[in-house]
Amino acid sequence: MRKAIYPGSFDPITNGHIDIISRASKLFDEVIVLLAVNPSKECRFTIEERLAMLKVATKQFNNVKVDFYPGLTIQYARKVGAVALIRGLRVVSDFEYEWALSAANEFIDKDIEMVFLMAHREMTFISSSSIDELYRSGVDISPLVPKVVVDNYAKKYNK
Ligand code: ADP
Repeated sequence: MRKAIYPGSFDPITNGHIDIISRASKLFDEVIVLLAVNPSKECRFTIEERLAMLKVATKQFNNVKVDFYPGLTIQYARKVGAVALIRGLRVVSDFEYEWALSAANEFIDKDIEMVFLMAHREMTFISSSSIDELYRSGVDISPLVPKVVVDNYAKKYNK
């Protein structure tokens, strides 16, 4: 059983994330979408809210699970016997951050492979922060995120 972890902040989950999850679910027997803590980010949605959205949005994939881990993702991956960590690449500027992360992970556990996937080119501009900005500017975000995210925004901002 080849298991992979797809870690992220998912604040909130977007169709770009879903595209990566869909690709990963075809490559591995099991994919765990892991809500991880990124200390450099201040999140809009709570851990509970993000977990709930992740669970609904990934229900369509029968080999995908959702989990939360407050520590290092690479340590979680080792604990559950995963063979790979999935990350998504959009633009060149993603590379530098991912390269540093990859080097740190290899230092901790060189047996877990980093696998980089690219979403469809039409998803390249989607990021969680752009979704937030668009929503707050009154733009319809429904083509860019799962329905549960639109519902959560409406609930959060009482619209
Ligand atoms: P993190 O705080 O760990 O970067 P994110 O939720 O922002 O968490 O992103 C998780 C992963 O998904 C990252 O590897 C990121 O590059 C990737 N990702 C996010 N949006 C997209 C997208 N539109 N297309 C491809 N990959 C994406």
